Amino acid sequence: MTHTTDVAIVGGGPGGLTLARLLTTGGSARVTVYERDGGRTARTQGGTLDLHADTGQRALRAAGLTQAFRRHARPEGEDMLLLDPTGTVLHRDDTPDDSPALRPEIDRADLRDLLLDSLPPGTVAWGRTLRTAVPVPASAPSPDGEGSGGGWQLEFTDGSRAEHQLLIGADGANSRVRPLLTPAVPQHLGVNAIEGTVPDIDRTHPDLAAVVGRGSYWVVGDGRSLVAQRCSDGSVRIGLSFYGPADRAADWLTTCGIPFDRPDEARAALLPLFADWTPDCRALIAAACAGPLTPRALTALPVGLRWPHRPGLTLLGDAAHLMPPVGHGANAAMRDALELATALAATPADPDAALRAYEEEMFTRTAGVADESARILAMITSPAGGPGIAAFFRGETRPGA
Ligand SMILES: Cc1cc2nc3c(=O)[nH]c(=O)nc-3n(C[C@H](O)[C@H](O)[C@H](O)COP(=O)(O)OP(=O)(O)OC[C@H]3O[C@@H](n4cnc5c(N)ncnc54)[C@H](O)[C@@H]3O)c2cc1C
Repeated sequence: MTHTTDVAIVGGGPGGLTLARLLTTGGSARVTVYERDGGRTARTQGGTLDLHADTGQRALRAAGLTQAFRRHARPEGEDMLLLDPTGTVLHRDDTPDDSPALRPEIDRADLRDLLLDSLPPGTVAWGRTLRTAVPVPASAPSPDGEGSGGGWQLEFTDGSRAEHQLLIGADGANSRVRPLLTPAVPQHLGVNAIEGTVPDIDRTHPDLAAVVGRGSYWVVGDGRSLVAQRCSDGSVRIGLSFYGPADRAADWLTTCGIPFDRPDEARAALLPLFADWTPDCRALIAAACAGPLTPRALTALPVGLRWPHRPGLTLLGDAAHLMPPVGHGANAAMRDALELATALAATPADPDAALRAYEEEMFTRTAGVADESARILAMITSPAGGPGIAAFFRGETRPGA
């Protein structure tokens, strides 16, 4: 007897779309992805992600998307130059031509497009923002005596509703599904960030293009850092992070007086904060301030977060384990998708057993990744940040050791 599981995935980020692809190619699931964005071009997707061989790339391999990934991946994006604010080089990685591409970069937009293009038409329901969900009473009591042996009714902000057997929350940091499982909410990490873009940098700022090179240009100072990363569309994404005693408060972005929505004034306010940094750094900041700036308070869920299982319901990706953004989040989300799809394929007659098995594996695996991410962030934001990270890259120390 064949079993078709009816799955609602809320959120069309890397985690949700990877799961949708894996389930639709597996053939034993009917999948709908409910996505808040109005369409695939509704908003810019941001910068670039490095996908690791054992997590993000592994999931894409299982999804039959390795060739599509290679068309967009940039192994040379693994180049990295780490400096201090005086311009002293602390560490340098130059990717060889025969690189095994263990962590190549891919633009978020390219990754999203390749996943979207891999789905059967109509899989994504665009412009559907989940408000909440309620369990549908089971005709027979579930073994737990609560929750939803009968599935979940989803309620959207436009007033529409839908019913599905399984509900997977892949809706990111501020998940609307998470409160159905745990009261945990992301906590501020004492780091505030601003992101901007220098478009078409080879033409508009060839001198800065040469400074940034093919990958990441990373400057770590005491209480501040700058990262500039090349993207495949010819732009360079600039991120500034603030974690000094005066600017680590959770409300700093709204109380600092920098008008992020007025780039010229923001530039005038930001440059004095980097007065003793190299002219290259200051020029990169000035160039990024020519366009829109996105302020972002960095938050994370508690390391090792778990919840009691509820039938027919689970989370993946940032919704389950939002962690400091040091390069693991999207990879962990895609690995979650792989583990969940594998578990569902193993017990098609008992999808809830699959959700339980997935949760146990995911809790254990991602607790270690979240812990390491927290230690790396602590290392970056410590007074010895730059030299500490350089020693870590050379394999001389472990984060937090
Ligand atoms: C500055 C920065 C740099 C990063 N760099 C890296 C990196 O190099 N490598 C890496 O692995 N990770 C990186 N990360 C982390 C990575 O971006 C996330 O971990 C990853 O995007 C999580 O994927 P996700 O699918 O779980 O959630 P998301 O990517 O957040 O996707 C969630 C989706 O759900 C949708 N959604 C939200 N709410 C609703 C709702 N109520 N109803 C319907 N849809 C909804 C959203 O529109 C979105 O499309 C970085 C993060 C930041 C902030």
